[in-house]
Amino acid sequence: MYVTKPRLFFDFALKNRFALPSFNVCNLETARAVIEAAEAEDAPVILQTYFGDLYYGGFDVLPQLLRLLAEQARVPVLVHQDHPDRDQMILRTLRSGYYSVMYDGGHLPLDENIRGATYIAEVAHGMGAVVEAELGQFGGEGQGGRVEMASPEEAKRMVEESGIDTLAVAVGSVHGQSSRLDLKLLEEIAEITPAPLVLHGGSGIHPDDVRKAIPMNVVKVNIGADLVRAWMKGLQEGALLEGGHEPPHHVAMKHAGAKVTEVARAKLSLMGGSHQATPMQRKLEEAVADLQPSQAVVV
Ligand SMILES: [Zn+2]
Repeated sequence: MYVTKPRLFFDFALKNRFALPSFNVCNLETARAVIEAAEAEDAPVILQTYFGDLYYGGFDVLPQLLRLLAEQARVPVLVHQDHPDRDQMILRTLRSGYYSVMYDGGHLPLDENIRGATYIAEVAHGMGAVVEAELGQFGGEGQGGRVEMASPEEAKRMVEESGIDTLAVAVGSVHGQSSRLDLKLLEEIAEITPAPLVLHGGSGIHPDDVRKAIPMNVVKVNIGADLVRAWMKGLQEGALLEGGHEPPHHVAMKHAGAKVTEVARAKLSLMGGSHQATPMQRKLEEAVADLQPSQAVVV
Protein backbone atom coordinates (compact mmCIF):
# COMPACT_ATOMS: atom_id res chain seq x y z
CA MET A 1 0.00 0.00 0.00
CA TYR A 2 1.31 3.41 -1.01
CA VAL A 3 0.49 5.62 1.97
CA THR A 4 -1.38 8.80 1.06
CA LYS A 5 -2.64 9.62 4.58
CA PRO A 6 0.66 10.34 6.31
CA ARG A 7 -0.81 11.97 9.45
CA LEU A 8 -2.93 8.90 10.17
CA PHE A 9 0.15 6.75 9.52
CA PHE A 10 2.22 8.59 12.16
CA ASP A 11 -0.72 8.95 14.53
CA PHE A 12 -1.23 5.18 14.49
CA ALA A 13 2.42 4.62 15.43
CA LEU A 14 2.24 7.26 18.18
CA LYS A 15 -0.93 5.78 19.71
CA ASN A 16 0.32 2.21 19.48
CA ARG A 17 3.76 3.06 20.89
CA PHE A 18 6.03 1.94 18.12
CA ALA A 19 8.41 3.71 15.75
CA LEU A 20 9.02 3.31 12.05
CA PRO A 21 12.52 2.84 10.76
CA SER A 22 12.94 5.08 7.71
CA PHE A 23 15.40 3.39 5.39
CA ASN A 24 17.50 5.21 2.81
CA VAL A 25 17.18 3.40 -0.51
CA CYS A 26 18.55 4.32 -3.93
CA ASN A 27 17.70 1.46 -6.28
CA LEU A 28 15.34 -1.42 -7.04
CA GLU A 29 17.27 -3.99 -5.00
CA THR A 30 17.58 -2.09 -1.72
CA ALA A 31 13.97 -0.87 -1.87
CA ARG A 32 12.66 -4.36 -2.61
CA ALA A 33 14.81 -5.87 0.15
CA VAL A 34 13.34 -3.43 2.70
CA ILE A 35 9.78 -4.15 1.58
CA GLU A 36 10.45 -7.89 1.85
CA ALA A 37 11.60 -7.31 5.43
CA ALA A 38 8.46 -5.32 6.23
CA GLU A 39 6.23 -8.00 4.72
CA ALA A 40 8.05 -10.72 6.66
CA GLU A 41 7.51 -8.76 9.92
CA ASP A 42 4.00 -7.61 8.94
CA ALA A 43 5.30 -4.13 9.75
CA PRO A 44 4.59 -0.75 8.17
CA VAL A 45 7.73 0.92 6.85
CA ILE A 46 9.17 4.13 5.41
CA LEU A 47 11.40 4.29 2.32
CA GLN A 48 13.33 7.54 2.16
CA THR A 49 15.56 9.24 -0.37
CA TYR A 50 18.04 12.01 0.47
CA PHE A 51 19.33 14.18 -2.37
CA GLY A 52 22.20 11.79 -3.18
CA ASP A 53 19.76 8.89 -3.57
CA LEU A 54 17.59 10.97 -5.90
CA TYR A 55 20.52 12.07 -8.08
CA TYR A 56 21.82 8.48 -8.20
CA GLY A 57 18.49 6.79 -8.80
CA GLY A 58 17.19 9.48 -11.15
CA PHE A 59 14.63 12.13 -10.33
CA ASP A 60 12.33 10.89 -13.04
CA VAL A 61 12.81 7.23 -12.13
CA LEU A 62 13.33 6.59 -8.41
CA PRO A 63 10.12 8.22 -7.06
CA GLN A 64 8.03 6.27 -9.60
CA LEU A 65 9.90 3.05 -8.86
CA LEU A 66 9.32 3.41 -5.12
CA ARG A 67 5.67 4.20 -5.66
CA LEU A 68 5.19 1.11 -7.81
CA LEU A 69 6.90 -1.14 -5.25
CA ALA A 70 4.88 0.43 -2.42
CA GLU A 71 1.59 -0.01 -4.30
CA GLN A 72 2.32 -3.71 -4.72
CA ALA A 73 3.44 -4.21 -1.10
CA ARG A 74 1.23 -6.10 1.36
CA VAL A 75 2.09 -3.55 4.07
CA PRO A 76 1.72 0.25 4.32
CA VAL A 77 4.78 1.97 2.83
CA LEU A 78 5.29 5.72 3.20
CA VAL A 79 7.77 7.30 0.78
CA HIS A 80 9.64 10.20 2.40
CA GLN A 81 12.06 12.79 1.06
CA ASP A 82 15.03 12.95 3.42
CA HIS A 83 17.65 15.80 3.46
CA PRO A 84 17.16 17.93 0.31
CA ASP A 85 20.17 19.81 -1.08
CA ARG A 86 18.00 22.88 -1.71
CA ASP A 87 14.40 23.92 -1.03
CA GLN A 88 13.50 23.47 -4.69
CA MET A 89 14.04 19.72 -4.29
CA ILE A 90 11.18 19.61 -1.77
CA LEU A 91 8.82 21.05 -4.37
CA ARG A 92 10.07 18.56 -6.97
CA THR A 93 9.51 15.57 -4.68
CA LEU A 94 6.02 16.85 -3.79
CA ARG A 95 5.24 17.07 -7.48
CA SER A 96 6.60 13.54 -7.89
CA GLY A 97 3.93 12.33 -5.49
CA TYR A 98 5.73 12.19 -2.12
CA TYR A 99 3.39 12.52 0.87
CA SER A 100 6.19 13.22 3.35
CA VAL A 101 9.08 15.67 2.99
CA MET A 102 11.82 17.15 5.14
CA TYR A 103 12.70 20.83 5.51
CA ASP A 104 16.41 20.89 6.35
CA GLY A 105 16.86 24.01 8.48
CA GLY A 106 18.64 22.73 11.60
CA HIS A 107 21.76 24.75 10.77
CA LEU A 108 19.84 28.03 10.48
CA PRO A 109 19.09 30.56 13.26
CA LEU A 110 15.75 29.57 14.86
CA ASP A 111 13.69 32.41 13.36
CA GLU A 112 14.95 31.61 9.88
CA ASN A 113 14.35 27.87 10.43
CA ILE A 114 10.77 28.63 11.51
CA ARG A 115 10.18 30.94 8.55
CA GLY A 116 11.41 28.38 6.02
CA ALA A 117 9.51 25.50 7.63
CA THR A 118 6.30 27.57 7.74
CA TYR A 119 6.47 28.19 4.00
CA ILE A 120 7.19 24.54 3.19
CA ALA A 121 4.41 23.41 5.55
CA GLU A 122 1.92 25.66 3.75
CA VAL A 123 2.87 24.26 0.36
CA ALA A 124 3.08 20.62 1.49
CA HIS A 125 -0.19 20.75 3.43
CA GLY A 126 -1.89 22.14 0.35
CA MET A 127 -0.82 18.95 -1.41
CA GLY A 128 -1.83 16.58 1.39
CA ALA A 129 1.76 15.93 2.51
CA VAL A 130 3.43 16.21 5.91
CA VAL A 131 6.61 18.07 6.77
CA GLU A 132 9.46 17.03 9.04
CA ALA A 133 11.57 19.91 10.35
CA GLU A 134 14.93 19.63 12.08
CA LEU A 135 16.13 21.22 15.29
CA GLY A 136 19.78 21.20 16.31
CA GLN A 137 22.44 19.40 14.28
CA PHE A 138 23.07 15.67 14.14
CA GLY A 139 26.58 16.07 12.74
CA GLY A 140 28.48 13.25 11.10
CA GLU A 141 28.41 12.81 7.35
CA GLY A 142 27.21 15.78 5.38
CA GLN A 143 27.01 18.15 8.35
CA GLY A 144 30.73 18.75 8.90
CA GLY A 145 30.75 16.65 12.07
CA ARG A 146 29.23 19.47 14.13
CA VAL A 147 26.72 18.26 16.73
CA GLU A 148 24.34 20.76 18.30
CA MET A 149 21.68 19.60 20.75
CA ALA A 150 18.05 20.69 20.36
CA SER A 151 16.46 22.75 23.15
CA PRO A 152 12.95 22.07 24.54
CA GLU A 153 11.89 25.74 24.37
CA GLU A 154 12.98 25.98 20.74
CA ALA A 155 11.16 22.72 19.94
CA LYS A 156 7.95 24.18 21.36
CA ARG A 157 8.32 27.39 19.32
CA MET A 158 9.22 25.45 16.17
CA VAL A 159 6.11 23.27 16.35
CA GLU A 160 3.66 25.97 17.43
CA GLU A 161 4.79 28.68 15.05
CA SER A 162 5.58 26.74 11.86
CA GLY A 163 2.75 24.18 11.76
CA ILE A 164 5.12 21.34 10.81
CA ASP A 165 3.95 17.77 11.46
CA THR A 166 6.99 15.92 12.81
CA LEU A 167 10.17 17.24 14.39
CA ALA A 168 13.64 15.72 14.12
CA VAL A 169 15.53 16.58 17.29
CA ALA A 170 19.27 16.26 17.83
CA VAL A 171 19.55 14.61 21.26
CA GLY A 172 22.83 12.75 20.90
CA SER A 173 22.51 10.58 17.79
CA VAL A 174 25.03 11.24 15.00
CA HIS A 175 24.76 10.42 11.27
CA GLY A 176 26.64 7.19 10.57
CA GLN A 177 28.22 6.83 14.04
CA SER A 178 27.63 4.95 17.29
CA SER A 179 25.88 7.05 19.92
CA ARG A 180 23.98 7.18 23.19
CA LEU A 181 20.96 9.46 23.51
CA ASP A 182 20.40 12.16 26.11
CA LEU A 183 17.09 10.60 27.18
CA LYS A 184 16.43 13.29 29.79
CA LEU A 185 16.58 15.96 27.11
CA LEU A 186 14.35 13.89 24.83
CA GLU A 187 11.84 13.49 27.65
CA GLU A 188 11.80 17.26 28.28
CA ILE A 189 11.11 17.86 24.59
CA ALA A 190 8.33 15.23 24.54
CA GLU A 191 6.73 16.90 27.57
CA ILE A 192 6.79 20.41 26.17
CA THR A 193 5.42 19.62 22.68
CA PRO A 194 2.91 16.99 21.52
CA ALA A 195 4.52 16.71 18.06
CA PRO A 196 5.62 13.24 16.93
CA LEU A 197 9.43 13.18 17.06
CA VAL A 198 12.09 11.86 14.69
CA LEU A 199 15.67 10.73 15.27
CA HIS A 200 18.38 10.81 12.62
CA GLY A 201 21.59 8.74 12.77
CA GLY A 202 19.49 5.75 13.80
CA SER A 203 21.98 3.08 12.67
CA GLY A 204 24.34 3.80 15.54
CA ILE A 205 21.94 4.50 18.42
CA HIS A 206 22.35 1.94 21.21
CA PRO A 207 19.36 -0.48 21.05
CA ASP A 208 18.48 0.17 24.73
CA ASP A 209 18.20 3.88 23.97
CA VAL A 210 16.04 3.20 20.90
CA ARG A 211 13.60 1.20 23.05
CA LYS A 212 13.51 3.88 25.75
CA ALA A 213 13.04 6.68 23.20
CA ILE A 214 9.89 5.24 21.61
CA PRO A 215 7.50 6.04 24.52
CA MET A 216 8.85 9.62 24.33
CA ASN A 217 6.82 10.32 21.17
CA VAL A 218 9.48 9.05 18.74
CA VAL A 219 7.69 7.71 15.65
CA LYS A 220 10.44 7.70 13.00
CA VAL A 221 14.10 6.71 13.17
CA ASN A 222 16.29 7.22 10.09
CA ILE A 223 18.48 4.29 9.08
CA GLY A 224 21.05 4.87 6.34
CA ALA A 225 24.54 3.64 7.23
CA ASP A 226 23.60 0.14 8.43
CA LEU A 227 21.74 -0.60 5.23
CA VAL A 228 24.57 0.63 3.02
CA ARG A 229 27.10 -1.45 4.97
CA ALA A 230 24.95 -4.59 4.65
CA TRP A 231 24.43 -3.99 0.93
CA MET A 232 28.15 -3.43 0.21
CA LYS A 233 29.32 -6.39 2.30
CA GLY A 234 26.65 -8.57 0.67
CA LEU A 235 27.81 -7.59 -2.82
CA GLN A 236 31.43 -8.39 -1.96
CA GLU A 237 30.51 -11.78 -0.48
CA GLY A 238 28.03 -12.49 -3.24
CA ALA A 239 30.60 -11.86 -5.96
CA LEU A 240 32.54 -14.88 -4.68
CA LEU A 241 29.57 -17.27 -4.53
CA GLU A 242 28.99 -20.07 -7.00
CA GLY A 243 25.55 -19.75 -8.55
CA GLY A 244 25.19 -22.91 -10.64
CA HIS A 245 22.95 -22.01 -13.57
CA GLU A 246 22.09 -18.57 -12.22
CA PRO A 247 23.91 -15.55 -13.70
CA PRO A 248 26.63 -14.43 -11.24
CA HIS A 249 25.36 -10.83 -11.02
CA HIS A 250 21.93 -12.10 -9.97
CA VAL A 251 23.57 -14.32 -7.34
CA ALA A 252 25.57 -11.38 -5.94
CA MET A 253 22.61 -8.98 -5.83
CA LYS A 254 20.26 -11.56 -4.30
CA HIS A 255 22.84 -12.26 -1.60
CA ALA A 256 23.27 -8.54 -0.91
CA GLY A 257 19.48 -8.06 -0.89
CA ALA A 258 19.10 -10.83 1.68
CA LYS A 259 21.66 -9.06 3.90
CA VAL A 260 19.68 -5.81 3.63
CA THR A 261 16.47 -7.65 4.47
CA GLU A 262 18.12 -9.14 7.56
CA VAL A 263 19.20 -5.71 8.87
CA ALA A 264 15.82 -4.15 8.06
CA ARG A 265 13.90 -6.93 9.84
CA ALA A 266 16.00 -6.45 12.98
CA LYS A 267 15.31 -2.67 13.01
CA LEU A 268 11.57 -3.13 12.39
CA SER A 269 11.37 -5.60 15.24
CA LEU A 270 13.52 -3.48 17.60
CA MET A 271 11.18 -0.50 17.10
CA GLY A 272 8.05 -2.54 17.78
CA GLY A 273 6.55 -2.42 14.28
CA SER A 274 6.10 -6.19 13.86
CA HIS A 275 2.44 -7.25 13.41
CA GLN A 276 1.29 -3.61 13.17
CA ALA A 277 0.88 -3.52 9.38
CA THR A 278 -2.47 -5.31 9.18
CA PRO A 279 -4.32 -3.19 11.78
CA MET A 280 -2.73 0.00 10.42
CA GLN A 281 -3.69 -0.80 6.84
CA ARG A 282 -7.27 -1.42 7.93
CA LYS A 283 -7.33 1.98 9.64
CA LEU A 284 -5.85 3.73 6.59
CA GLU A 285 -8.35 2.08 4.23
CA GLU A 286 -11.35 2.85 6.44
CA ALA A 287 -10.55 6.56 6.84
CA VAL A 288 -12.23 8.80 4.30
CA ALA A 289 -9.50 11.41 4.60
CA ASP A 290 -6.25 12.10 6.41
CA LEU A 291 -6.19 13.93 9.75
CA GLN A 292 -6.05 17.72 9.55
CA PRO A 293 -2.75 19.54 10.10
CA SER A 294 -2.38 21.05 13.57
CA GLN A 295 -3.23 24.72 13.51
CA ALA A 296 -0.12 26.81 13.20
CA VAL A 297 0.09 30.18 14.92
CA VAL A 298 1.88 32.15 12.26
CA VAL A 299 3.79 35.11 13.67
ZN1 LIG B 1 19.74 13.20 8.79
